[in-house]
Amino acid sequence: MNTLHSAASSEGTPEKSADQLLAPYAMLHRNYGGRLNGDEPHSYRTVFQRDRDRVIHCKGFRRLGYKTQVFVNHEGDNYRTRLTHSLEVAQISRSICGALRLNQDFAETLALAHDLGHTPFGHAGQDALNRLMRDHGGFEHNCQSLRLVTKLESRYLDYRGLNLTRASLKGMLKHASVYECDDLLAEICAERGRENMILEAALVDHCDRLAYIHHDLEDGLDSGILQRDDLSELSIWRDAYQAVEKKSGQAFRHARGPLKVRAVIRYLMDRSISDLYETTRANLQALQPKNQSELLEKGPGAAEYPVRYSAEMREILGVCQKFLFRRLYRYPRVERMSRRGARIIELLFYEYVERPGMMPEHFQREIDSVGVYRVVSDYIAGMTDRFAAKEYRSLTGEV
Ligand code: MG
Repeated sequence: MNTLHSAASSEGTPEKSADQLLAPYAMLHRNYGGRLNGDEPHSYRTVFQRDRDRVIHCKGFRRLGYKTQVFVNHEGDNYRTRLTHSLEVAQISRSICGALRLNQDFAETLALAHDLGHTPFGHAGQDALNRLMRDHGGFEHNCQSLRLVTKLESRYLDYRGLNLTRASLKGMLKHASVYECDDLLAEICAERGRENMILEAALVDHCDRLAYIHHDLEDGLDSGILQRDDLSELSIWRDAYQAVEKKSGQAFRHARGPLKVRAVIRYLMDRSISDLYETTRANLQALQPKNQSELLEKGPGAAEYPVRYSAEMREILGVCQKFLFRRLYRYPRVERMSRRGARIIELLFYEYVERPGMMPEHFQREIDSVGVYRVVSDYIAGMTDRFAAKEYRSLTGEV
């Protein structure tokens, strides 16, 4: 049986030195809350550095390199994948956390782990699997990420999962629910349901959105689906274009088109990152929280929550997101990729449910405890785009 081991004393440890550099309302190492399966201290790595390292070394993390962000993996080598997206989210989160004296290693863990539960073929894959699992507990990528780090990863001799700290598990939870079969997490879920978001977790969420809005614009332009003229309909793009032109003068005017695009996107991104940092810093200064609990105890969604953009930036990002929905995510070529992905997932699902013996043995062994549907869902969710497509081809003979 798994029991929660109490947090070890942080006297004279790397955790103690690290905590001295953090703001009092940051995720302090001494509040990491222990782990679900045994808890040996490390002589020179902090508890959150070890969480981060465990995520980087797990199989699910490597597979993100072959999972669709927007463009299906084989469409081109330069587009973002879930792996590069996660690295970008981690980089931005680290920068802002460092400047605010929040816990960078903790935020990095959350950023690197935030998309672990995604299916192949992006959101189309998730929607398809959720539809197929409707009567069997559903499918949701955040629940799946939690399931992956606590049950599905298999790298350690004494337990399943990555044995992350209780704080990281709570930070990963975007809402206070997991699958019914993941009862190990019930206590952490209940705690999460009573609390507001941890500052670092809220920042990672914002950085996730900020990263994909900007990199989807760039990938959309690189793919030729978006044209620079299309972007001119956005006043924020026109303003940014003029600002970069004014600042860089001749160098900008004579630059190649793609280089201009990157310069403008970099400007936009820098502006939104700085806005998030400055607004949050000002809010923290006004609130002066004495510690983390003071913020968490205000309960979920408290109005005066400090991590946010200015009203102007919120509106700008909303406009960009709507533009991307209209002009990129629903573009026929992208829709076609999505529909094909959904079809692949549907066929695989019914095939494995009907013939579970086609799945690897270690998946079949789980059927008695969680049922065939959850096992099939776990197996499919863990696949990369190319593996799922290969399975599909081998089952249907289609090329
Ligand atoms: Mg993401």
